[in-house]
Amino acid sequence: MTAARLAGAEMLDVGGYARISDVGQIGDGRDGREGVIRQREDVYDLAKLKRVNVHRIYEDNDTSAYKRKVKRKDFEEMITDLASATISGILAYNIDRIARQPRDLERLIDIYEQARRPMIFATTAGDYDLTTADGRFQARIYVTIANKFSADAARRVARQKLAEATDGKPHKGQRAFGWRDAEHVDEKEAEILRKAREDILNGKLIATVHREWAEAQVRTPQTPAGKTISYTSVRYVLRNPRLCGYRAYIPQEHRERSGRVDPVEYLVERTDGTPIVGKWETIFTPEEWRELVDVLDSRKNTGKGRKVGTTVTKRLLTGIARCGNCGSGLASAMYQRGTPSYEKYGYYYLCKVANGGCGTLSRSGPPVDDYVEQILLGHLKKQAQVVTPAEREDPELEAAKAKLKRINSDKAEARQLRASDMLSLSEFAREIRRLEDKEQELKEKVSTLSVTPIRASSAASRIVREWDKFTVDMKRAEIMRSIEAVVVSKAGKGGAQRGKFRPELLEIVWK
Ligand SMILES: [Zn+2]
Repeated sequence: MTAARLAGAEMLDVGGYARISDVGQIGDGRDGREGVIRQREDVYDLAKLKRVNVHRIYEDNDTSAYKRKVKRKDFEEMITDLASATISGILAYNIDRIARQPRDLERLIDIYEQARRPMIFATTAGDYDLTTADGRFQARIYVTIANKFSADAARRVARQKLAEATDGKPHKGQRAFGWRDAEHVDEKEAEILRKAREDILNGKLIATVHREWAEAQVRTPQTPAGKTISYTSVRYVLRNPRLCGYRAYIPQEHRERSGRVDPVEYLVERTDGTPIVGKWETIFTPEEWRELVDVLDSRKNTGKGRKVGTTVTKRLLTGIARCGNCGSGLASAMYQRGTPSYEKYGYYYLCKVANGGCGTLSRSGPPVDDYVEQILLGHLKKQAQVVTPAEREDPELEAAKAKLKRINSDKAEARQLRASDMLSLSEFAREIRRLEDKEQELKEKVSTLSVTPIRASSAASRIVREWDKFTVDMKRAEIMRSIEAVVVSKAGKGGAQRGKFRPELLEIVWK
């Protein structure tokens, strides 16, 4: 169609398309948030040049560029509008903005081919007449190359970020919780972190720390406006190797894949296995950070990690002490006021029928508690004297960890092959599935094997040192880590009534 005809006719309504992507950030200044503004300007300039009317700008935030899975909402709407003749063409900065994948382009070609009306498909780099074989050929070639380039660029960006990480450079982007900027500690936040670490080492659950932070309006720079901090970010912040100067590098695709990335798994190490140390002020020493992560991991392994504390005040051995007659967990109750037992002991443990027990056993509380505490502390003191060997990993565990690492690189490789179209989608899906099954299996193995060496001697000596400052909940958590149950047996006739404590009636079942 000629310019003369167009001038006489009504101007065509077209859609402008802009897309934010991460990949190619190094490239042409059309990426990221600001890049989109430039893309929009390009569209309007182009519209003037082509003498068409921009009906609407369609814009997608697609930071995963060449990945097929990501849905582009505005792109889909644009296709619909194009098919229903609401718009008669598309303008964009570049064809690779519009069609990331050859398959996107084919959908457009179908519409252009079938339409019996004037259509336009223009970019600042040139126009493509999708109604002709020649135009389609050019467009296809271009998109294929762009698709390949995106994959390359993604790898290039990943490599560059890894290189920066290996260099110990601070993270770019938003500051981390605990720091004013990339390098300097924020004392107020650092204090919050130190306190949380102390509390957790003393048995506090992350869930409790989370509740306290939320109540105190503690926020990270990543906390969305108007929301309180999430459990996940409390966990993330506390596990962040950055706290002690270690550098983690989490590839973009890993961040996208799941909401709960554990930064501990992404420590950047030198070839000799020592961690890269970054160039910023630290909040913990590496030992302090390791200790914290160890304690958190040990809870994860026992499956007792995220439990919201109950409101019922528990005695030290409620549920841990068991009836030697029927095996039920013992409950506690107060002696009747004014009785000598009340004056002397206050509370007692009992096997309760209401809890499904036999109801035939009871024992004064404090002497049992004291006894178990002393035994446990003796046990921990012994542990504290055992040095490094307890912390050394066994070969089976090391092998499993090494395999796990290999799985990760296998997955990355599969993804790369997929990106460069060397694996079909079904082959890729099958391979990823296989690797993920294997990964799950290995993770379980690592988690099981890691249970033994977690009680580092330093942790044991700290517990002994600070035991008197522990709350009942903290003590219970500690007891449950080493002791499965305390079995309380019935005294012989009249035995218990004499008020003499008889340790032989208590049997401690260690884990
Ligand atoms: Zn019983």
